[in-house]
Amino acid sequence: MISLFNSVNEFTEYRNSLATDSIGLVPTMGNLHDGHLSLIKKSISENQYTIVTIFVNPLQFGPNEDFDKYPRTLTADVEKIKSLKIEGKEIIVLAPSSVNEIFPKNFKTTISVKDLTNTLCGASRPDHFDGVTTIVYRLFALAKASKSYFGQKDYQQVLVIRRMVEDLLIPTEVIALPINREESGLARSSRNQFLSESGRVEALELSGTILKISRLLKEKSFQEAGIEINDILEVVLRDQRWDYLEVLDAENLEAVNINTQQVVIAGALKIEETRLIDNHLTKISYAR
Ligand code: AMP
Repeated sequence: MISLFNSVNEFTEYRNSLATDSIGLVPTMGNLHDGHLSLIKKSISENQYTIVTIFVNPLQFGPNEDFDKYPRTLTADVEKIKSLKIEGKEIIVLAPSSVNEIFPKNFKTTISVKDLTNTLCGASRPDHFDGVTTIVYRLFALAKASKSYFGQKDYQQVLVIRRMVEDLLIPTEVIALPINREESGLARSSRNQFLSESGRVEALELSGTILKISRLLKEKSFQEAGIEINDILEVVLRDQRWDYLEVLDAENLEAVNINTQQVVIAGALKIEETRLIDNHLTKISYAR
């Protein structure tokens, strides 16, 4: 069964009528693709109720970003959810009809996680993560879900949300699921549809470069791979299309140090007018 709420008050009334802990939350901005659906399917398999939120959150877009242009496809999204095997489980879609539904006019609070948000996407999108944590906190408060599902596609986002959940004692388990990719290797994204045919090919440079670094780190020690990786990073640094490409400690997004066991190789590349992000986790070893 699937039910759709456009009113937050009606949603809240329904949510409060449910006498169970078996509730999963999947926050999204809609325009659902197989990446989103993998999160929803996982939640359906683990919970009696799955709350999918569909809300394009203005707080996480910068002034010159694509908030107005962001694809809004609610009817098709609901159809995609309906086509999943729900089998005795229940899906509740919360798609607020306006920004005011979620952020009333007198809303004054910002939730901000320090340090983790200074690097990668946070460096080039200054208020982005405050927008993310503020909306996600509010969605946690509305859904009161025992489990919440996020994609590793937004690796930094997962770390920031985990930090917020731990720091603010939010009673939900954060579950992060692997990046869902097209056959070509391109990470699925609602923004991929803005790419032309040739843009889609050019975009493979993002996953391709990240994988190249990952392979080097698997074949060689961190010290040995370092020279070749630095060559790759230098080329990227000179290329205007790249916003960033970095190899950081996967646990805290700090520079790799002697305690680092796993790195995240994360990149953001602008193709045509579309900024794409991707990442890959890799365990590293050290030469003795
Ligand atoms: P969005 O609608 O882009 O805000 O994404 C909603 C959720 O889906 C976030 O937790 C994303 O990390 C996740 N997600 C987006 N794309 C993918 C993907 N290709 N694979 C797995 N999860 C994804």
